[in-house]
Amino acid sequence: MVRQSTRKAAQAKPAQAKPAAVESRTRVKEEVVSVAAVKANGTEKTLTAVAESKVDAAKKTVSKRKSAPAEPELDGKDIENASPAEDKKQVQEPKKPAAKKRKTTKKEAEDTMPLAARTAVASLKRAMYIGAHVSGAGGVQNSIQNAAHIGANAFALFLKSQRKWASPPLADEAKSQFHALLKQHNYDATKHILPHGSYLVNLAQADAAKAAQAYDGFLDDLQRCEALGITLYNFHPGSTGGATTSSACARIAAQLNKAHAATSSVVTLLENMCGSGNVIGSRFEELRDIIALVDDKSRVGVCIDTCHAFAAGYDLRTPEAFASTMAEFDAVVGLKYLRAFHLNDSKAPFGSHRDLHANIGTGFLGLRAFHNIMNHEPLQGLPMVLETPIDEKGPDGKTVENKQVWADEIKLLESLIGMDVESDGFKEKEEELHAKGASERQKVQEQVDKKAEKDAKKGTKGKGKGKRKKKDEESCDSCGESD
Ligand SMILES: [Zn+2]
Ligand SMILES: [Zn+2]
Repeated sequence: MVRQSTRKAAQAKPAQAKPAAVESRTRVKEEVVSVAAVKANGTEKTLTAVAESKVDAAKKTVSKRKSAPAEPELDGKDIENASPAEDKKQVQEPKKPAAKKRKTTKKEAEDTMPLAARTAVASLKRAMYIGAHVSGAGGVQNSIQNAAHIGANAFALFLKSQRKWASPPLADEAKSQFHALLKQHNYDATKHILPHGSYLVNLAQADAAKAAQAYDGFLDDLQRCEALGITLYNFHPGSTGGATTSSACARIAAQLNKAHAATSSVVTLLENMCGSGNVIGSRFEELRDIIALVDDKSRVGVCIDTCHAFAAGYDLRTPEAFASTMAEFDAVVGLKYLRAFHLNDSKAPFGSHRDLHANIGTGFLGLRAFHNIMNHEPLQGLPMVLETPIDEKGPDGKTVENKQVWADEIKLLESLIGMDVESDGFKEKEEELHAKGASERQKVQEQVDKKAEKDAKKGTKGKGKGKRKKKDEESCDSCGESD
């Protein structure tokens, strides 16, 4: 069945392709919508564009904000619910005095000047809901405006600080504001919001005390989901800690069963991983084995991260490779369990077991892989979340986030729906992005080759011993999955 629809999708005549990607991207950049308009319209409509002068004004505001010397996101409150990118910065940068003023400035900038209008999904040839992992700094409710700001039709967030065990309970005010903003911005919390679990939680933990702590943190997240009306929740399956994979899978399933019994509706999605160290979930078989032991199958599913899949050895680059990977997933796990996607290109080559997210089209996956995904019918309606890098060097040499990158990538992905891959528009865009990522790909390729050489000399396969394994089993290399 999958094969059939895959073939259909691959053969679908993209005759009435959307305008060339290049044109569409340029156009998007020129489309800035006032929040007043968004609010009035209840969103999910491509709204009236405003004059280009406003774009410049918006850019100025944003860059002014970004280069502001005092970064109050370092205060405790802002560390809560930071986006992956923000989190990385917080970990790396020393603590500085907080400037209260900036919060207002940031809020104003983001409120008044969305970087892109949300596309009406109904206007797309396939119902693809694309967004990014946005920040919930200052309270989960802020994630909604942050998502609307970049024109996202789906989004991810952390429900609490992803690196602390103890977090204050969900405030009533945050909860009521979350519900109000959901309504105002017309996001469906049962379908298109995909919170990401804490990096600290390892449900495969064998140690009783640590397993209890992991369970408490996990359950707390699920309870937050239910309080917010969110149905899907994505998490990393865990690490064996050196135990057998089968025992680890059994422990994960047991924890899930307990958590499902203690809650009522949230569906827990296992994320596929890149296959480094002792991390579980890089093979579809491992995901299958966990699901097999889950009592309530309606409460479990899978979120596929494209970068992780590719690094783990599942190819997505050509229509044939993509179809075969999807068919394999269907045969091993079952397509009905596929509930979400993380859309990331890969800075590391195929099967390298390294987790290095790249911007769409600039990595080893390339634009064609994303064209395959965007035109695959069975994936319609799933939340698709970018976790691509947005850090850039500011004029003062400081790292700043450029959320325009996500706004543009969302529009780029949407433009791939129904696009003819033989068209000049597609080819030009593909080439442009491929060239953009060349030096980064080369750099990582060299690292991978060097390591392979070393491993060959040692007679190991790089999945055995030493420091690297320890590091990998605790974290991924990028996208805020790093330490
Ligand atoms: Zn993840
Ligand atoms: Zn990752």
